[in-house]
Amino acid sequence: MDSETGVSQGRSRLAKRIKLKDAHIVTRMMDIAGGLTDVIKLGRGDPDLDTPDHIIRAGQEALASGATHYTHPLGIPELRQAIVENIEAHGGARYAPEDVVVTPGGQQAMFVLALGLLDPGDELLVPCPGYNPYHQAAELSEATLVNIRTTSATNFTLTADLVREYITPRSKVLVLINPGNPTGTVIPPDEVVRICEVARQHDLLVVSDEIYARITFEGHTVQPVAPLPGMQDRTFTLSGFSKAYAMTGWRIGYFAGPSDLVPALAEIHHSFAISTAAVSQHAALAALTGPQECVEEMRRTYDERRKVLCDGLASLGIPFAETQGAFYVYAKVAETGIGATEFCERLLREGQVMIFSGLIYGDYTDDYARFSLTQPIPRIHEALERMARVVASIRQETSVA
Ligand code: PLP
Repeated sequence: MDSETGVSQGRSRLAKRIKLKDAHIVTRMMDIAGGLTDVIKLGRGDPDLDTPDHIIRAGQEALASGATHYTHPLGIPELRQAIVENIEAHGGARYAPEDVVVTPGGQQAMFVLALGLLDPGDELLVPCPGYNPYHQAAELSEATLVNIRTTSATNFTLTADLVREYITPRSKVLVLINPGNPTGTVIPPDEVVRICEVARQHDLLVVSDEIYARITFEGHTVQPVAPLPGMQDRTFTLSGFSKAYAMTGWRIGYFAGPSDLVPALAEIHHSFAISTAAVSQHAALAALTGPQECVEEMRRTYDERRKVLCDGLASLGIPFAETQGAFYVYAKVAETGIGATEFCERLLREGQVMIFSGLIYGDYTDDYARFSLTQPIPRIHEALERMARVVASIRQETSVA
């Protein structure tokens, strides 16, 4: 075969299938940050907190005792057992260990599910703004991405009425992200019940991304989808260890789903990964079976940071969605007089504070930006002081103009 043809075909396939959309915004921010010093990073969703010691020790011990091989493709049985117990202990459905697939991060679970469940042209319904890899998952499956536009009127959460508006005969999979990223909001439990009624009426499969479910504030709680009436047979519960146990670098997550669908999806996972890193599986087992105070301590830490950041934003006259969970604050920075993407860039250049524009998460306005609560309180204070200076100069310019 003519190699030129192969290369150009490869290029056009990539151009067609992987539309980089707003990835360039992230790259641009990283490039700008690369030339600056003392940047306060409130951008990525990677906890600054360390993985708790007992989990690290379990990983070290596992390596020393030979956990250096492939494991069962679905994951070591002890971990899958611990996962099903943990899901049930937090109000979720009762799964069998065979219905759980341990993956290299919840992220990979998303792609296994999308490639397994979606045919070209099927519609994947996602909350908008929402976690952007779901967009790529639709793209790679040649499915049609349907952005369900949430608004500040419902604190940027899905509602049954909204979901209903977007359903067509091609709708196949509905994604719930609860608590939401980038919005940091929780869908009220009774609304989750109503959304599930719509999913049943329209025979939708549901991916319920509950990766932040252990991190909620002010008494908000997450209603798991799978245990609701008639839902377990159509729902995939997606979660992981990155957020609740600060284990982003271990790359481990999972999905659990209907017994008749999991084996074929497990084949896809097997083709992608063979199995998830043995050391990470043993560490995750220690996370679930060891002391849980660390989860509450981290949650409290994010909560304290949330209050500081939200007070600061309020005093700058910047509105934000009510942060009820996860570790993000979604703020309407356009209130300063310029668009969110430009605001983020100026805040970085002039204040050395990194936050991400809502456009990265598919927002349909350029009004909002996401702040991650991933810096200690003194750094958040410092970020707010720097931001106050940048905001003052933007306001001065826009009032003169
Ligand atoms: N789901 C949501 C909503 C996320 O925000 C993330 C990561 O930021 C993930 C899933 C994937 O996390 P991981 O692959 O680290 O488990």
